[in-house]
Amino acid sequence: MRKKFVAGNWKMHGNLQQNAALLERIKAGVSGLKCDVAVFAPFPYLGQLQSVLSGAAVAWGAQSVSEHAIGAFTGEVSASMLVEFGCRYVLVGHSERRSLFGETDRVVAAKFEAAQKAGLIPVLCIGETLAERNDGATFSVVSRQLAMVLDRVGVAAMVSSLLAYEPVWAIGTGVTASPAQAQEVHAAIRRQVAALDAGVAGALRVLYGGSVKAQNAVELFAQADIDGGLIGGAALVADDFLAICQAAS
Ligand code: PEP
Repeated sequence: MRKKFVAGNWKMHGNLQQNAALLERIKAGVSGLKCDVAVFAPFPYLGQLQSVLSGAAVAWGAQSVSEHAIGAFTGEVSASMLVEFGCRYVLVGHSERRSLFGETDRVVAAKFEAAQKAGLIPVLCIGETLAERNDGATFSVVSRQLAMVLDRVGVAAMVSSLLAYEPVWAIGTGVTASPAQAQEVHAAIRRQVAALDAGVAGALRVLYGGSVKAQNAVELFAQADIDGGLIGGAALVADDFLAICQAAS
């Protein structure tokens, strides 16, 4: 049995005061839950997360990381810096990074590797755009994105990572993939990993992301290959986020 995992991606939202209130509510609300819970905050707030969440049943991480370990890379943040702020996880390859900031499959794979080298657990985000889905290219796109990482780090590295299938057309749109649509892609992802190592594939947690709400979470999380969720908008409202965590428990 894979333990379910629910993570909030705050994107570029929050301020010190709002974060403090949200984190206190989440901290209080997670006691007794059976799933793993994490939040991904903007870089400047990682110190706040470290002081508020240390010792609590909520892990934290950043939304991106540099592919470089150190050097003249103005504006970048290295994986070892994230470790210093207590991060356990980091998102890599979120579709907004790919589409708005030009992160290619190669860059995403390099970030994945850099994160793991520093001891972080990368959450690799993959997913197709609406145009790609309409072209019938969903499986080829997702499989290409995953293959770039597998080729670079090898299947054994997936033991200390998570995947998030996030159809781009479902992110922030209010349109969710149906449980069946999501499940068939999750199953394909797991088959791709299983072709290299069945044991690794069996233990790998694959999250679904894209307009998950309390109302649709139960059915999504009931699918055989959906191991929790990566939550954007609903992660900014404590009651909504906690209701999704409940759905995974
Ligand atoms: C996300 O940002 O990863 C996401 C899934 O957002 P939302 O839940 O708002 O669609």
